Amino acid sequence: MRKAGTTQLRMRKARQGSSTQLRFPCLYICISIHKAEGLGGLRPEARGPGPTVAAPRTVAVFGASGYQGGSVAMALLKDGSFKVRAITRNPRKKAVQELKHLGAEIVKADLDNEKSLLEALKDVYGVFLVTDYWEYMDKDRELKQGKRVADICSQFDVKHIVFSGLENVKKLTDGKLDVPHFDGKGEIEEYFREIGARMTSVRMPDYFENFLHVFRPVKSGKEYYVLDIPMGGVPMDGMSVEDLGGVVLAIFKNPEKYIGKEIGLSTDKLKIEEYAAIMSRHTGKSIQDSKISVKEYEERNFPGAQELAKMFQFYMKQPDRNKDLTLMLNPEAQSFEEWMSKNKNAFIND
Ligand code: NAP
Repeated sequence: MRKAGTTQLRMRKARQGSSTQLRFPCLYICISIHKAEGLGGLRPEARGPGPTVAAPRTVAVFGASGYQGGSVAMALLKDGSFKVRAITRNPRKKAVQELKHLGAEIVKADLDNEKSLLEALKDVYGVFLVTDYWEYMDKDRELKQGKRVADICSQFDVKHIVFSGLENVKKLTDGKLDVPHFDGKGEIEEYFREIGARMTSVRMPDYFENFLHVFRPVKSGKEYYVLDIPMGGVPMDGMSVEDLGGVVLAIFKNPEKYIGKEIGLSTDKLKIEEYAAIMSRHTGKSIQDSKISVKEYEERNFPGAQELAKMFQFYMKQPDRNKDLTLMLNPEAQSFEEWMSKNKNAFIND
């Protein structure tokens, strides 16, 4: 995700674009309009100050030191159509310093602190918002954070917010299932709509990167590993979080098309045994679906086990995740097979 060398090279090339039209599209258009309207024939004093180059619009990116925000900040910086204001509570973080080297403005702010957000969101065109449920595992806190940003965006008349949302499972299932890290985001989506904000929600599926930590294959015998994911034989959507940035960039570039939409993302929808087979092929290890049940999973002794068990129950209902649209928005987004071939060495080291 953070290959500074190649990225810097590509950015340099982009900045050195060979024509004025490429580097300064607005300048090119302004000049064309002046020519078309015959303004070139006016007396100098009637021409006004001449064509001006509009500065790129600023997008504030929350979570810039993390998976989602990092991917978005990187994609926007590489593209160059927007300026990036990377928001963090700790500007000294390595990931944030890397973004600074690539041209991002770094601003210290905290989603729990309104005053800091009022400073951070001054004069922005757009906002990418991701809230982190897992830091406190507190739905009400996450909801307050989202509403706080929504209200400030409304106060500052922010033109486009891309929010990393998810379904309000509790509402969708009439209270039969509640998945707090989904429900809070669903309520934030609803709040953005209630106040009439110009918002697009992107709903991430399971990150492929989860297979490197929280859902990694676990050793179950000599050279034998299992994937403990209770999907009951139902396929599960997935995507590399690295590819979110390209999706969000395309959305920011086409506000009229995507404001008001909820976009479920996915680049692959595979059964756990199919994920396991691809992993086995790339790692040379034997990895299988353990076929763990939801009940066995929720009895696991780690924080969040019960919540994740409920999430898998919701995944079994096949929430809307649109592979065609995801690939249309980001044609370079990787399938699981492609992602595995790039990441196989990070996989099983024991
Ligand atoms: P991450 O890599 O752990 O990064 C979390 C980011 O949130 C950090 O950059 C952190 O910034 C920022 N942050 C946390 N609390 C903050 C606060 N009070 N003020 C400002 N910034 C704050 O997390 P991620 O994976 O990008 O995003 C996590 C979210 O993704 C969770 O809510 C989760 O439910 C959702 N999600 C995950 C998956 C999945 O498969 N894993 C799928 C769908 C949705 P600083 O520390 O630099 O301030």
